[in-house]
Amino acid sequence: MIYIDYNATTPLDTRVRDSMRPWSSDKFGNASSRDHAFGWDAEEAVEDARFHVGNLINAKTSEIIFTSCATESINLVLKGLVHAKDANGRTIITSVPEHEAVLGACRQIEARMGVKVQYLPVDRYGNIDLADWAHNIIKGETFLVSLILANNEIGTINPIREVARIAHDAGTLFFTDATQAIGKISVDVRADGIDLMAFSAHKIYGPKGVGALFIRSGEPKIEIEPLIAGGGQERGLRGGTLNVPGIVGFGEACRIAQMEMEEETERVRKLRDKLERTLFAELPDIWINGQKSNRLPNTSNIGFSGVDARTLIRDMHDIAVSTRSACSSSSTGPSHVLKALGLTDEQAYSCIRFSLGRFTTEEEIDYAVKKVISSVRRLRSHSMISITNERIH
Ligand SMILES: *Cc1c(COP(=O)(O)O)cnc(C)c1O
Repeated sequence: MIYIDYNATTPLDTRVRDSMRPWSSDKFGNASSRDHAFGWDAEEAVEDARFHVGNLINAKTSEIIFTSCATESINLVLKGLVHAKDANGRTIITSVPEHEAVLGACRQIEARMGVKVQYLPVDRYGNIDLADWAHNIIKGETFLVSLILANNEIGTINPIREVARIAHDAGTLFFTDATQAIGKISVDVRADGIDLMAFSAHKIYGPKGVGALFIRSGEPKIEIEPLIAGGGQERGLRGGTLNVPGIVGFGEACRIAQMEMEEETERVRKLRDKLERTLFAELPDIWINGQKSNRLPNTSNIGFSGVDARTLIRDMHDIAVSTRSACSSSSTGPSHVLKALGLTDEQAYSCIRFSLGRFTTEEEIDYAVKKVISSVRRLRSHSMISITNERIH
């Protein structure tokens, strides 16, 4: 089985696994235990991890809150801000092709909390229109601006620095879901003017079940009401005993990402470009979704005209790719991201996301590409036969 679905999740790096091992065996202390060395050791390990997580995004250690996943971080920001401030009658500005975590939280907020959410569209390449954002972000009315940093389905990278500036000019906070960008492109919360940012360990070769929320310190002060109240962990913003092994693994994953990102990105980009080059040389009537240049280096979302993507995936049974985000695969209907680009339902059902990563090899890409080419050719010739048959009958 060849795994080309790194945007859904990544395997645990063995170095990360090794770093976690002691913390799930003899070093089992509760990081909040203040009275003995089991607790002190665990707390030190957590703070060390917090340093590495913060360091990767140029944040201070004190600005990182650990959660269970990016989805939780996103919910904590959106709902926690609404709860903490009088947001009634005000507006959250976000984009149509956000991740389900943002869209789901926004739908709840709209339904129950008297806050309006405005979903701004993107063009056929997935790009936002800055003038549109400047026009819709309104001083006193806009409560929060939330824009995904890099899209998980098509890889388009948003101009968040510009949007953050527009938000700040209107006296509004800027939040970004950076889950897919972290470890793939460099993210600097200070240079980019990010106030709040969510991301996750399992997308960067860390364990599942750990996420982080960056909350900028300083003025204007950001007030968030916790969703999980309890023992005062994480500066009172997220109660519950800390997942020490998971957090240690997250820290190690961030440390490795910082060391290796540049080299890894170049290697992966070359493989991704080879995949696209070969497919385009061999197959007519295919297209790339998203912007070709300003795109995550590992992501390639390709449409195969006249081919049903689910049939294609079943046909290439030893290649793990996906038709859409794993996080929305329980919902039926075409991908909301592809629909946002203006694709028809039929076109959206003809698309496959290839997402490469740290352990993808050139041999794997060569094999996968061959398989895609032969499957697409076969399926297309079958559909030609059935069209011909229909004409005869
Ligand atoms: C994977 C992903 C999430 C959800 O992350 P979890 O840690 O699984 O909750 C959110 N946003 C984006 C862009 C993602 O790719």
